[in-house]
Amino acid sequence: MADAVVQLRCGVKNDDWGKKGKESVVAQLWSKTPGSGQIDESQTYSEMWMGTYPSNPSYLLSTGEQLGDYLKKNPQLVGKSVLDRFGPEIPFLPKILSFNKALPLQIHPDLTLAAALHGEDPKKYGDTNHKPEIAIALSKFELFAGWKPLKDIQTLFKLNPLEKFVPPGEFNDETLRQVCIKLPSVPPSTVATTIKELQAIPEAHFGPDPYIPGLLDRLSKQYTECDNGNLVAALLMNYLTLGPGDSVFVPADSMHAYLEGDIVECMARSDNVINTGFCPATDRDSVELFGKALSFIPHDAQGALLPRKKSDKGMYGKTDVYAPPISEFVILCTCLGAGEKETHKAILGPSLMIVTKGCGTMKIPGNQNIELKEGYVFFVGQGVALDFGTDKGLAVYRAYAE
Ligand SMILES: [Zn+2]
Repeated sequence: MADAVVQLRCGVKNDDWGKKGKESVVAQLWSKTPGSGQIDESQTYSEMWMGTYPSNPSYLLSTGEQLGDYLKKNPQLVGKSVLDRFGPEIPFLPKILSFNKALPLQIHPDLTLAAALHGEDPKKYGDTNHKPEIAIALSKFELFAGWKPLKDIQTLFKLNPLEKFVPPGEFNDETLRQVCIKLPSVPPSTVATTIKELQAIPEAHFGPDPYIPGLLDRLSKQYTECDNGNLVAALLMNYLTLGPGDSVFVPADSMHAYLEGDIVECMARSDNVINTGFCPATDRDSVELFGKALSFIPHDAQGALLPRKKSDKGMYGKTDVYAPPISEFVILCTCLGAGEKETHKAILGPSLMIVTKGCGTMKIPGNQNIELKEGYVFFVGQGVALDFGTDKGLAVYRAYAE
């Protein structure tokens, strides 16, 4: 019988917004899995992907086989519910991300738009699926998510340099859509002048958002003072700073950009993205497409946060759950102090697990003791209870569907 628990080797990506060398949590975790390779200090390490996504798949450490092929041969490991809905696959894609420069300002199309875009241009939009995602902070995590409250945006756009971007009439979501289409389409010189003019205004005039002039300065240094994303993010979106363990949920069609931090991210299995800033102009998608895909949820900072709750999968109360309001996945987080233990009850679907801190052991039925160390990644098939123990402390994230 095929092993239900297998250790994996995962792929990394080296986007230029990633943290460099061993500064990057991605590089640290990735390099600790046997067979992965050494950290190159001159290289940026932006993302580590876990799972079966074809462009960056994970492999079984013991045999070198692709996890996706292993599951096709052993469909019983994903369990009936997931098999019926998604086939012998993992319907989600967990990643570790490390960045000290803004990631492209982006939205991920919903199911309907994703299917239409894939039909028109399957090379660019490789998936018919939507891509709601969650992000859990491993360190201090700064990001832009969702829209500021309408009344705050309305007040802000009464400032002299901004008035010209607002169409006349009542200020509602439709006005915001017009502004959202306008700001990404103004010429680079207008972006630069607007930023300069805003920075000449005292911070106190920015109402609840006195950080805006300073933030524009910081963003301009990353992608030049001509990047339209600077205006969209700083003026229209919620700017959040999260601490370790805090989390956000980004629904399909919702605008977001991550600014700095190390995170565990998980999304429905898709790689579709519409970019509109914090990237070279040639990498940006059409403003019309962006305007069409936009949704105006959430409309405040609170609405973007995903609460962390106790999970009933943990028998000893050491496990929390992040459960976004979608069916593709949830994430468990088990944090143990020295000498503590936890048991995950059997889960009826596939899961992917990474040790982000510490070391310990994991016992599975049949009395096998599996060593756990920082950076170790596992696939766990359905129906297996896991007993965790540690002498020194241990943190484990586990994404699953059932
Ligand atoms: Zn995203």
